[in-house]
Amino acid sequence: MRRTLAAGNWKMNGDAAMLEALGHLQAPGGDSAPDILICPPSTLLVQAVAASKDSPVSIGGQDCHSAESGAHTGDVSAAMIKATGASAVIVGHSERRGDHAETNADVRAKVEAAWGADLLAILCIGESEVERMGPDTLDIIAAQLDASMPDGATGETLVIAYEPIWAIGTGRVPTLEQIVETHDMIRARLVTRFGSEGDSIRILYGGSVKPSNAAEIFTAENVDGALVGGASLKVADFQPIIDALAAS
Ligand code: PEP
Repeated sequence: MRRTLAAGNWKMNGDAAMLEALGHLQAPGGDSAPDILICPPSTLLVQAVAASKDSPVSIGGQDCHSAESGAHTGDVSAAMIKATGASAVIVGHSERRGDHAETNADVRAKVEAAWGADLLAILCIGESEVERMGPDTLDIIAAQLDASMPDGATGETLVIAYEPIWAIGTGRVPTLEQIVETHDMIRARLVTRFGSEGDSIRILYGGSVKPSNAAEIFTAENVDGALVGGASLKVADFQPIIDALAAS
């Protein structure tokens, strides 16, 4: 059985007061408690790891460079993230793909870098609004998944986050049918490529997840949790999402 995961992406937000609030997040549900991960800006990683000590919260980065070191001003390597005490890193977020022109090949190299540093890679994929309205939506997402994902993935090393770009930060969410169809397609593809291991790789939904819509989204069999942006910034919003996941 796959362990569920509630992951918060703080993006370019966060301060000492928000780190303090991490101590208030709780993992309900006993053995079926969801994993909880917060990904703050890289400048806060060390403090976040310290603040989440003795709590159920793990800490991750929001991006890493694919190289181990070198002349890459402003970037951080996977090993640097690991050295802070973090255990995971998001790669291929649509804001990175868009703002920094990251290709599927770039993202695939970042997943490999994450694995090289013993970090769990959370690989984001998802379609634009135009792509959602066209006839080839699932093929487009499948092609992005195939090209961004290296060989050798396991449930311990990789999480997929399906995040429709048009749903991120907009308050708009796909229908449950669209989420089910897309996650089922991703699951089938993971199993085809990795055999039974593909069944243990978690698939998160991301895009305007809120306390008000989380429970419905978590009814889908192949939704193993959520990657949450805006609603992860406040305990009052993120905790009910964690609770909905524990109850699913
Ligand atoms: C995200 O950026 O990964 C995200 C899902 O953002 P939001 O929840 O704010 O839509």
